[in-house]
Amino acid sequence: MLKTLGKVFTGLAAGAMLMAGAVAPAAAQVEPQAINFRTPFDCGQVWNANTRTNHNPQNAVDFQRSGAQGKNVRSSAPGKVTTVRDLGNTSYGKYIVVTHSGGWQTLYAHLSAFNTSVGRSVSTGTIIGKVGNSGGSSGPHLHYEQKLNGSVRRVVLNGLAIKYFGNTTVTSSTGC
Ligand SMILES: [Zn+2]
Repeated sequence: MLKTLGKVFTGLAAGAMLMAGAVAPAAAQVEPQAINFRTPFDCGQVWNANTRTNHNPQNAVDFQRSGAQGKNVRSSAPGKVTTVRDLGNTSYGKYIVVTHSGGWQTLYAHLSAFNTSVGRSVSTGTIIGKVGNSGGSSGPHLHYEQKLNGSVRRVVLNGLAIKYFGNTTVTSSTGC
């Protein structure tokens, strides 16, 4: 069901499908996104998207896999880099915020390295950093958020709603 919804929203994002008769779902679990966010990793990489009730913020996703350390982190959508910050051994550690259109932002945390700077324009798939274990993290992974007007929303990637709460296997198609 969620997969179907995701496809509808992808169509809405594309614009053209709207006129082709896409039907709005009656009881959407996930709100439509104005942006088609992509998995923030290299093409073909497989990651576990973990969500849990005690995560802070709760709608954030932790992306996990073996050998996560040092993997490329890519922007989920076009935008501008608005935060590149290092909080040291606490919280997000090294993190980046990319601001997109329509009030959307994506946040990438616990990085081991930055490959961008504030003010840079990015495309979908632009490498912005490397996965790490910085801040309040107990193992290499990517903490990822999608925010709308400052509030963290449930994550949708490649038109697919991530499971809340639990684990979703995602294969990156970014930059393929
Ligand atoms: Zn996290």
